[in-house]
Amino acid sequence: MNLILFGPPGAGKGTQARILQDGRGLVQLSTGDMLRAAVAAGTELGKACKAIMDRGDLVSDDIVVGIIAERIEQPDCAKGVIFDGFPRTVPQAEALDRMLSERGWKIGAVIELKVDDEILVGRVETRNRETGGTRADDTPETLRNRLAVYHKNTAPLLTFYQGQGKLHSVDGMAPISQVSAEIAAVLDQVGGRP
Ligand code: AMP
Repeated sequence: MNLILFGPPGAGKGTQARILQDGRGLVQLSTGDMLRAAVAAGTELGKACKAIMDRGDLVSDDIVVGIIAERIEQPDCAKGVIFDGFPRTVPQAEALDRMLSERGWKIGAVIELKVDDEILVGRVETRNRETGGTRADDTPETLRNRLAVYHKNTAPLLTFYQGQGKLHSVDGMAPISQVSAEIAAVLDQVGGRP
């Protein structure tokens, strides 16, 4: 099954994606991780994206759609993909639906991790300390912009996926193991559908 982990920055998408990857053999595709790898490698793509990412703005739809289109062609993705941090705009979601349907694939579930903005500020401060400040976008100022971008550009996707009957919301403020259990319950329910 292919699924989308959805939520604001710091909601725990990456943590839950890794748990699902280990537990269910799905492949985590994080556009943020891929873009950071391109920045670290100093590729043309990385150079084009660095300043945008450091500000907490969104990289263009064409760039991220291109990255995902290339990646899902790899054979490991046939096991099922967890999209983490993608899509982030309605045009990205529409492009994803097209890409998947060309392969006869679809999104089985969209799981929203619901978290209050105030809690995210604290979480991202913790992540900044843990990563030794290696992420230039994990500062309180940039986080505020990333949250604003999330509410403006990304949150409208909730309506998009609700309209498709695929949206499931879980309490992202619960302990990690409880969030995982709630996600597992959703996937077992959706996966068992005819
Ligand atoms: P993340 O690790 O998912 O928070 O992503 C870090 C940064 O990478 C974001 O703040 C954006 O600048 C960029 N980025 C990641 N995924 C996307 C996406 N789907 N669309 C546009 N920009 C993205």
